[in-house]
Amino acid sequence: MKNNHVTVLEIDLNAVKFNLNYFKSKLQENTQILVVVKAFGYGSDAVAIAKSIQNDVSYFAVAYTDEGIALRESGINTPILVLHPHIANLELDIQYCLEPNLYNEKILKSFLLLAKGKNLSQYPVHLKFNTGLNRLGFSENEIELISSTLKNQNYIKVKSIFSHMVASEDSNEREFTLKQIQSFERIISTFKNQLGYKPLIHMANTSGIINYQNAHFDMVRLGIGLYGFGNDPEETSKLRNVISLKSVISQIHTIEKGESVGYNRAYIADKITKTATIPIGHADGINRRLGQKVGYLQVNNQKAPIIGNVCMDMIMIDITNINCNEGDEVIIFDTQQNVEDLAQKADTISYELLTAVSQRVKRQILC
Ligand SMILES: *Cc1c(COP(=O)(O)O)cnc(C)c1O
Repeated sequence: MKNNHVTVLEIDLNAVKFNLNYFKSKLQENTQILVVVKAFGYGSDAVAIAKSIQNDVSYFAVAYTDEGIALRESGINTPILVLHPHIANLELDIQYCLEPNLYNEKILKSFLLLAKGKNLSQYPVHLKFNTGLNRLGFSENEIELISSTLKNQNYIKVKSIFSHMVASEDSNEREFTLKQIQSFERIISTFKNQLGYKPLIHMANTSGIINYQNAHFDMVRLGIGLYGFGNDPEETSKLRNVISLKSVISQIHTIEKGESVGYNRAYIADKITKTATIPIGHADGINRRLGQKVGYLQVNNQKAPIIGNVCMDMIMIDITNINCNEGDEVIIFDTQQNVEDLAQKADTISYELLTAVSQRVKRQILC
């Protein structure tokens, strides 16, 4: 088997390109695209992803400063928006040419002071407005405060104004989302008058791109879609799978009726059972909820339930009716549907399943 007898996360860069082009085809010609590569590129490899598409996008976004530094240190020169910076890291943002989202009065004033101290000129910053998520962002009634803070200075420049949708994937919340878009539009028009120049405007995440053509504005922020998920089976079916998690069989046991498997004897065989031990556990991102036959792996295209408790470094699967040998490949997931299915069984969503794959798992780039 080609994976060298280890657990690997394969990342298909051709699929990334395909998905990017798919979303681009949904945009007006002059709408720019920002690609979100936070959390190691949704658990994949942010650097590999960024390198492969840096010439095809206007922006990258990360959550934290460290994530932006990692991109810069690998030679990415594309503008990078830091979605969730903290005051303690603003110096580093400047040092690495990262563009902070300034989301409240405190961080805005801190950054301005810093920019003044360094005598910066028109350093690009981004302002986030809260239109209902109630997570990060200025409120509409702070526009006055922001514009008076920004007046008569040339140290920083507002490169973009943005907001984030609460439920863009949920058609039951369409009315709410349309209200969100409206209040964002109101904020933009008030703010633009005060600012005297026109920053970029953006609001839509993946599902926003798909479901709210009227909210693409100047730029969209593509996250999960790039990695193959459209938050809806029909959209997902038009995308290609990017991330696959594979492992191998370390050892096969044949156990007698009444014997147990794994910690706490959580599985007791009710007949002669053939089990395989796989070198991947909860420390690698296999949710413990997938134990006790809730989740499964695929061996030779057949489903092999995870039996007993998920260990830190291993899981055991039931291969009684599957023809396989030690050293054979097993698949944890290699299609989007497979990811969605496991996510549902673990009572979570694709985003969490993907980002849970820990850094211990080797990343293998396919291109
Ligand atoms: C993570 C994130 C996105 C991307 O969302 P997807 O649903 O993955 O496309 C966009 N904007 C902000 C502010 C985010 O935090």
